[in-house]
Amino acid sequence: MRAEIIAVGTELLMGQIVNTNAQYLSRGLADIGVGVYFQTVVGDNAQRIKESLRIAKDRADVIICTGGLGPTQDDLTKDVLAETVCQRLVMHGPSMDKIEHMFQKRGVPMVESNARQALMLEHSEPLANDTGLAVGVALTHEGTHYILLPGPPKEMKPMFDRYAKPWIAAQMGSVQPLYSVMLKFAGIGESQLEHELIDLIEAQSDTTIAPYAKEGEVAIRLTTRAASMLEAQAKLKPLEEEIRSRVGQYIYAAEDIALEEAVLRLLTEQGRTLAVAESCTGGLLSDLLTNVPGSSAAFAGGIICYTNRLKHELLNVPMEQLEGSGAPGAVSEETAKRLAEQILSVTGSDYGVSVTGVAGPGESEGKPVGLVYVGVASRDGETTVKQLQQFGNRETIKLRSAKSALYQLWK
Ligand code: ATP
Ligand code: MG
Repeated sequence: MRAEIIAVGTELLMGQIVNTNAQYLSRGLADIGVGVYFQTVVGDNAQRIKESLRIAKDRADVIICTGGLGPTQDDLTKDVLAETVCQRLVMHGPSMDKIEHMFQKRGVPMVESNARQALMLEHSEPLANDTGLAVGVALTHEGTHYILLPGPPKEMKPMFDRYAKPWIAAQMGSVQPLYSVMLKFAGIGESQLEHELIDLIEAQSDTTIAPYAKEGEVAIRLTTRAASMLEAQAKLKPLEEEIRSRVGQYIYAAEDIALEEAVLRLLTEQGRTLAVAESCTGGLLSDLLTNVPGSSAAFAGGIICYTNRLKHELLNVPMEQLEGSGAPGAVSEETAKRLAEQILSVTGSDYGVSVTGVAGPGESEGKPVGLVYVGVASRDGETTVKQLQQFGNRETIKLRSAKSALYQLWK
């Protein structure tokens, strides 16, 4: 089944908003085994929307439009589709009731244009809008499946996930559903991972292996079609085991969670706590950790000791270690070690993690951009320091350093 996404909206063409809907829909369609062949963007113009639908009809089995379901004059998508498939627009009773009720509750008179949001095509199925007013549309006409979704993501996403996706899956009929396993990696780059698994990737058949990387993490998705969960497991398990035997030491989760979440889960299970001393990451490590709900169970806090003065005054790193000729400097194994041990003892945590490095763009202390030291001190063990060489711009180096620190702890 081939799909095309048509995002309607002049703001998209003018660069005022980013087409996040298309990204969300493409990913969701991939989950149910529908390949997106084209993504189109078209302005709020009836003639051009019609033209886009005509082109899409010749090259797609499923056409999903987002945007233009609102009450105003520039919201045209339903009108254009109605014209394209020669159907009348009719009122969807429950949606109309909901709109009237909403206006009554607010005590404002309903303008007639608001009723437009309750319109659907004569022979279509309504898609409920649980987070807004405009009803969506699902329709099959001359073998093509059409879906109309609202533009605002907070309305589009639930309508798609709850109603449109199952509807599309049902149209696929006998096609078996897709099952997938996600493996998440840290401490190994995407190309290295691909290199280790290249023969498996090249030999893939009805079970696919798709590596991808984002935001300092690498993942592999194993996907297969099967009649049941059990059958899917039987197909995916041997492949997962083969991958684990080669690169298992880098796998931190067999589900789609971030490294910080995996680290916090582990610490919480063990009843242990963590504190951080951040230099070059400037608080990013703490930010990642505190984005995880419930992080306070394991994350005590930390210090952003960006300048040498703070490294010295708050965490007791000797000044002669930080500055002066022959001193190791702020970006050094010695300083990473000292910072990790000091934050451990100052906070009374079970683990102390430090990050100190050169985020760029220029070098520092005569050390190259991307040189980073990560220290991990533990209450009942030795302190380890890892030297890393990161690549990328300032933001990338910060993110990769924070993720590397998490990885060193997780190991
Ligand atoms: P409304 O009832 O708000 O008018 P609508 O279904 O008519 O909804 P549009 O008018 O096309 O949708 O867009 C409304 C808003 O939704 C846009 O201003 C934008 O913030 C968001 N939006 C629309 N299309 C997209 C898209 N493709 N990706 C991300 N956001 C979008
Ligand atoms: Mg609108």
